[in-house]
Amino acid sequence: MNEYDSNRIKDFTRKIDYMPTNDLIEANCYILNTCHIREKATEKVYHDIGRLKKKFRDSIKPIVLVAGCVAQAEGEILLKREKYIDAVIGPQSYHQINDLILALEKKNKSINFSEFDVVEKFDNFNSLKNSSNKISSFLTIQEGCDKFCKFCVVPYTRGPEFSRSVKELVLEASQLVENGAKEITLLGQNVNAYNFKNKRISDLIYEISKIKFLKRIRYTTSHPIDFTKDLIDAHKDYSKLMPLIHLPIQSGSNKILEAMNRKHTIEEYLEIIHKLRKINHNIKFSSDFIIGYPGETESDFEQTLKLMSKIRFINTYSYIYSARPGTPAAHLPKIELNEAKKRLIIFQDSAEKIKMQYRKTLINKKSKVLFENKINNENKYFGRDEYFNSVIVKSDKNMIGQIKNVKIIKINQNTMFGEIVSNLNQKSYAA
Ligand code: SAM
Ligand code: SF4
Repeated sequence: MNEYDSNRIKDFTRKIDYMPTNDLIEANCYILNTCHIREKATEKVYHDIGRLKKKFRDSIKPIVLVAGCVAQAEGEILLKREKYIDAVIGPQSYHQINDLILALEKKNKSINFSEFDVVEKFDNFNSLKNSSNKISSFLTIQEGCDKFCKFCVVPYTRGPEFSRSVKELVLEASQLVENGAKEITLLGQNVNAYNFKNKRISDLIYEISKIKFLKRIRYTTSHPIDFTKDLIDAHKDYSKLMPLIHLPIQSGSNKILEAMNRKHTIEEYLEIIHKLRKINHNIKFSSDFIIGYPGETESDFEQTLKLMSKIRFINTYSYIYSARPGTPAAHLPKIELNEAKKRLIIFQDSAEKIKMQYRKTLINKKSKVLFENKINNENKYFGRDEYFNSVIVKSDKNMIGQIKNVKIIKINQNTMFGEIVSNLNQKSYAA
């Protein structure tokens, strides 16, 4: 979502003649977009600003803004501790960023913009064409969260759940496709909680799938309690919808899920997986896990390992629990760090084994790959298959924006390598 936000900020600041540059030393204004989901986020800001100071030691200082969730959560602290920062701006105030830059040009120092004004933000952004020209583009459809998991800062930094209108979203998706996008990933902190005047994400997928040259639709991140029947059915009805579902579970223990306030049980989660597999047996899953949550015993952790082996996620994102200031879990006694680290290693080893076993089954098989870009100065193209696996193929022809059948030859942990076997767009008619 930060990547989407940064692109929209770039579109917006063009209105006051601040154009994006790839050469840092040229910048008159430096905007650092930040994430606050795990610890060290604030320290990273100070390091980054330190590097910036060095770079501009012999030049005119640019206007320095810190944007994003660190700005929202710790803005005043940042402004006090690091005088090189001129202003902070939270994610729901980006529509005010131009006013802020203009005020700073007039040397009004230390400004904090951290109102929750999400409606006004999108009203301002909607009138601006989205200039992203990536083959695979992001589109934020929903922001914020009402779920209040005990470990998470999102409800405090992004505010309550808000959904953009279907009309705005279809228009922006069409702009992205006009700019060359072949794949759109619908984004939201709880993307499947999308609800605009009773139109759900399944309705939106239906509308967006009508866009002619759009080939693939993905969505992330879903919460299990919002996985309603209409969205399950969408995986049968819409062929543009990709068969990989990212569905965070966090833990394999019902006791821990309850302590986290996740609002569902392991059994309910498994039921969703079962329904999705029944409707479309090609569907595969990826997930997020928090290891070493306060109160997690050896037995809870073993249940997490068991769940992972049962579902055989093809990809997982796992982290040691990180206490976030202002969240209810922050006061709970932590489990010993060395123990949490040990569990994380065991978990990641096991997740990696499952992932590699799955990848090995793809060798010598055909995958449909959408090519996104050429690798620098080589006749190699990078793309992704339907399951978001990275694939690299050698080719003398430009394949950017095309979907090709690729035979996978070799795999490693992060990438698969293959060769083109046929052109998917070829059709024959025998009479
Ligand atoms: N809304 C989605 C859901 O609930 O499934 C997840 C969105 S959250 C921004 C992304 C991931 O960050 C979570 O699934 C969780 O695994 C991880 N996360 C959030 N807070 C964390 C914390 N305090 N410590 C470790 N990981 C955390
Ligand atoms: Fe955070 Fe997701 Fe829980 Fe909301 S549902 S509080 S975004 S982890």
